[in-house]
This record gives sequence, C-alpha cells and structure tokens, in this order.
Amino acid sequence: MRQDIWKFGILITIAGLLGWYFGLALLTMLTMSLSIIAWQIYRLNLLYLWLTNYKNNPYPDTHGQFYLLHRIINKRNNKNRARKQQLTKHLKQFRQAASVLPNAIVLVNEFGKIRWSNTNAETIFGIKWPSDNGVGFTDLIRDPEIDKLLGKDQSQNEAEITSKLDQHVTISVQIVNYTNELRMIIGRDITRLVKTNQIQSDFVANVSHELKTPLTVLKGYLEILQNNSSLTKELEKPLQQMATQSGRMELIVQDLLYLAKLENRNEQINHKAVDITNIINTIIETISERIHKKQLKLELDIDSKLNVLGSQTELHAAFSNLIFNAVNYTPKNGIINVSWQPTEEGATFSVKDNGEGIPAKHLSRLTQRFYRADNDRSRERGGTGLGLAIAKHVLQRHEATLEIDSQIGIGSEFRCSFPVKLLIETELQEIAH
Ligand code: ADP
Repeated sequence: MRQDIWKFGILITIAGLLGWYFGLALLTMLTMSLSIIAWQIYRLNLLYLWLTNYKNNPYPDTHGQFYLLHRIINKRNNKNRARKQQLTKHLKQFRQAASVLPNAIVLVNEFGKIRWSNTNAETIFGIKWPSDNGVGFTDLIRDPEIDKLLGKDQSQNEAEITSKLDQHVTISVQIVNYTNELRMIIGRDITRLVKTNQIQSDFVANVSHELKTPLTVLKGYLEILQNNSSLTKELEKPLQQMATQSGRMELIVQDLLYLAKLENRNEQINHKAVDITNIINTIIETISERIHKKQLKLELDIDSKLNVLGSQTELHAAFSNLIFNAVNYTPKNGIINVSWQPTEEGATFSVKDNGEGIPAKHLSRLTQRFYRADNDRSRERGGTGLGLAIAKHVLQRHEATLEIDSQIGIGSEFRCSFPVKLLIETELQEIAH
C-alpha cells in the first residue's frame, strides 16, 4: 500500500516537473492524477468481474495493493472450497448411514416440500426418491395428525398415524429441526408395540371385568354376615376388615375398567360444552363432609364464564381425583386452593394444597398406574393408586397437559392446562335459560 502511494506520488511529481518545464505544471499533474484514478477503476472492475464469475473471466494482473487483496481472497476461496468438500463428504456419509436405517427418514424444507428420503421411506410412507422430490409431504400423507406436525399451527412434534399403504400398520412420526431450512421426519413402524399394548390393556380389562361378579357376591355375603345378630364378637373385626378390603378391591376394579375405557383407541370423545364450574361445585359438595371433618380451608378462584368442549364425565373424573387427593394428603387445618382461570395459552385448572408434599424423585412417575410416593399412607387412606393415571389419560384425550409441582413440607400443585381451541367463554346456564 505504502509502495503504491510512493509510486503514484513520484508519477504525479514527474508529470508536474515536465509540465513546469513547458509552463503547464497544474494541467499535467491533474491529467496524471485522473489517469491513475481511471487505471485503478479499471483494475477494480477486473477484480469485480473475476469475483462474480471467476470461471469465465481471466485472473486479473496483480501487483501493488491488488496483489494483497487477491492473496486474501484466494486464501479464503481455498478455505471455503475445502470446507465445502468436507461438508459434501459428510452429507454423503450421512445419507449413506440414513439409507440403511430401519426407519423412514425424509428431509423437508421450510415449506414442507420433500428434499430427500431414504429407501425405507418407500416401505413406510410410500415416498419414492427421487421422483417425489419437491412434492409436499402433507400432499402425499393426508392425515390431520401430519397437519399438526407440518401445518400452520405445528403444535406438536410427535404423532401416531395409520399407514396409507396398509390400514393395519401404525406409524410413529417424529419431526426434528435438522438445519435452519431443513426438518427431518422420522417414521417408525410401531404396529407390534401397539398390538402388545392392546393385548396388555385387553388382559387387564378382562381380568377386571371377570373380578366384578365374584366381588359383588362376596360383598353381598359379607353384608349379610355383618348384619347377623347371632354373630360372635371375635368375628366382628375380621368381617369388618374383609368388607373394607373388598370395598377397596371394588374401587380398584372400577378404576381399572375406567382406564381401559379411556385407553380404547376406538372410543373417541364426543365433544360437548362442559360446565366446569358445575363440575367443581359437584365435586366439592361430595367431599364437603371430609373437608369439614379435617377443618380444611377451601379457597376457590373460579371464572364461571370459562368453559370447555369435551367430555363432562371424563373431566369430572380427572378433577375429582385431583381434589380428593388434595383433601386426602393435606393434614388438619390445611389450605386447599382450587382455581380455574384463563391463561395466555388457554385455561388452567389447578389444585394447590399446603400438605405434606411429594419428594422430587417421585414426581415424574406419579401418573404411572399404582405408583405411589408413599405406599402405606396411600393404602391407609383408601387410595387405588390409579387416580393420577386416570387424570393424565383424560387430559391427553382433551389435548391438555398435567404439570405437577411439589415441595416437601410446603405442598403440591397439580395444573391442568387446556388449549385455547377448546375454550368457550359463555355462562352455560345462561344458554340453558
Ligand atoms: P392414590 O389413589 O394412591 O392417591 P393417585 O394416582 O391419585 O393414587 O396418586 C398417586 C400418588 O401421588 C399418591 O399415592 C400420593 O403418594 C401422591 N399424591 C397425589 N396427590 C397428592 C397430594 N396432593 N399431596 C401429596 N401427595 C400426593
């Protein structure tokens, strides 16, 4: 750079000296300066042409500051070329690996158009590569669940669909963001898993059903025996215990049958307007005696205009399990807060207590069947260990979620969040009148 400045300075001085000799110093200096500028513009243009299309334009003559510029640009170009080669190699390796995976892998762009797919995408989704390149994934796989993954709302990233190629096949579809522009759709044939789960569910439902009749008979005879005045004193206690335990068994059977019903894929919800305030009031009425006995303080924070579309009986079952638990696990003089309020995302039903709390290690497993944070205490209080499993299933069927927060010695909060699309903001009694 400094060299160039010297060079241009010398050229302008020589032109000035020559001009001075002929009495035209200013003119010759100005002409020389303009020539230097024109020359630089010409070289810049050559550089520009080479940069924009280096294949068809010659490599420009390089010296002075342009030589330095070329060196930097060339170095960067070589680096980029090497990186591109490496990326292409990695992409090739990835595609080779993806093509032998047992899952279907489909890459789609931000508009959901297919950019690549492996061989198993043909067996699982029926997508052929390369003939389906550029076709919309949702145009090939028409399913409302797929719309939720790729459509406007993109509200979830996992779904289960029935195969379009064979209606007996169930496919689990998962979507992950791959790069800024590409998303990866992973399809897995889970027919066997679904069948095994179904067999398991059917078995539990059948056993529960079979137990119903013997239990009713047993309970009936126990009642007759207990009412028998000629009963000896020693038999009173064992008979009482038998009656309590058979009552518990009956509750477990009832809950298991209800769970099996909720799990039944063919049993869809018949969405109707559900009066949430009415559900809460009915539950509180049922358990009011126990609340009174334990001298619990019940705080209600209910938006009675807020209601949802769903199943009245199912939501009643879910909410009553949460409220009954709060009453069961909160000691005397405790406080329970039941709230039903709108939120930014929809609406939340929450039951908060200042009871004994649940250790953090149990929280993620509480909704599993028969999982109890404290086995003895739960049985002692007549719990079946199925209440939260029922609540979770009901909420899933309503596209709602269950969140649990709890701290030992401080209390627990169970929050059910409903999506905005299920809400109706009218007093249902108003409609009825
Ligand atoms: P259960 O019939 O035993 O109450 P649930 O499925 O309703 O079964 O609850 C599972 C477990 O979660 C309970 O056994 C109890 O340990 C714990 N739990 C549920 N609700 C509460 C609560 N409000 N406070 C403390 N522990 C709770």
